[in-house]
Amino acid sequence: MTEYEVAIIGGGPAGLAAALTLSRSMMRTIVFDSPIPARNAASPHVGAFPSMDLAKPEDVRESIAANIRPYGYADLKSAEIAKVVEEDEGFVLSTQGGSSYRARRLLMTTGMVDLYPNIEGLKNFWGASVINCPFCQGYEVRNQSWGIYVHRPEILAAAEIYRNWTDDLVMFIEPGIDVPPERAEAIEALGIRLIPGRIETLEGDGEKLTHVVLRSGRRVPRDILLVWPHQTQGELVKSLDLPISDDGYVKIDECYRTGRRGIFAAGDLTYGGHQNTNTAIHMGNMAAAWLVFDLCQARAREEIYPEDRIVAAQ
Ligand SMILES: Cc1cc2nc3c(=O)[nH]c(=O)nc-3n(C[C@H](O)[C@H](O)[C@H](O)COP(=O)(O)OP(=O)(O)OC[C@H]3O[C@@H](n4cnc5c(N)ncnc54)[C@H](O)[C@@H]3O)c2cc1C
Repeated sequence: MTEYEVAIIGGGPAGLAAALTLSRSMMRTIVFDSPIPARNAASPHVGAFPSMDLAKPEDVRESIAANIRPYGYADLKSAEIAKVVEEDEGFVLSTQGGSSYRARRLLMTTGMVDLYPNIEGLKNFWGASVINCPFCQGYEVRNQSWGIYVHRPEILAAAEIYRNWTDDLVMFIEPGIDVPPERAEAIEALGIRLIPGRIETLEGDGEKLTHVVLRSGRRVPRDILLVWPHQTQGELVKSLDLPISDDGYVKIDECYRTGRRGIFAAGDLTYGGHQNTNTAIHMGNMAAAWLVFDLCQARAREEIYPEDRIVAAQ
């Protein structure tokens, strides 16, 4: 079995950026990326990504992959990792198809899994007229009529920011979300309408939203609905027993190490909030640098105390 220095699980911007830095550090690396479409695949473009602003998500990935290939240090594999077992100072990874690979270190860049709200028709519009981030897609739909789906208090707290993109704003308040009267007054003073009630279904033409329909039957005409789905970690991350923050993200220290020896993490799976391609790339690059540091320290230890590795391998 080929032994890699680093196995990267997740071939999005974070994983690919890490593979480029590892390649330029001459570290034998393998990147596994699940053939299942990535979270942002539904989006027509990647906005605010310098030098490739508005490129398609798959073109951003391919451009980084094209940078990686000529170095010849990283294998890019389309496969889902189903299982990871710690073994002899490293890890054995098994794909869904049953192939196995060995690596001394792991970098988790698996992103997050979206948990879509139970709104009929949402997936028909997702990425086109149901968007999840004003910075990513807001510019293209500026000055249109927007609805904001408020199913978490922090979305209400950010009401002022959405007006940056449009004055025609409605906030749909899910049952159970408390809107203090003074907050409601402040929001309505900005010309934002607050409409309480569960969203039942979305109506439109093709990918173009036309109406948000409430359980009460009320139909509210809207061009755009902003929805921030809840997120969860993928099954593999859950199986690794990594320390997780209260809001569900993998905890890392300043060197991108998780709480488990030899396992590093970078990208969306480590933080909520304004997740974006630039940050994922920054984190992947930084994690790779710390991995090189860690591996070089291990090599130095093995040169000075070769018996340590022999003992560890027994
Ligand atoms: C609809 C949408 C639109 C967006 N638009 C923008 C935008 O315009 N601009 C912007 O900057 N950001 C945008 N983002 C955010 C951006 O896509 C993410 O922040 C970025 O892709 C995170 O990169 P990542 O590498 O951490 O994770 P991801 O890009 O999610 O990549 C993780 C990869 O890991 C793979 N994976 C997961 N588990 C396994 C496994 N067990 N084995 C193998 N592979 C696995 C997944 O299939 C995926 O390909 C958008 C996000 C969404 C959802």
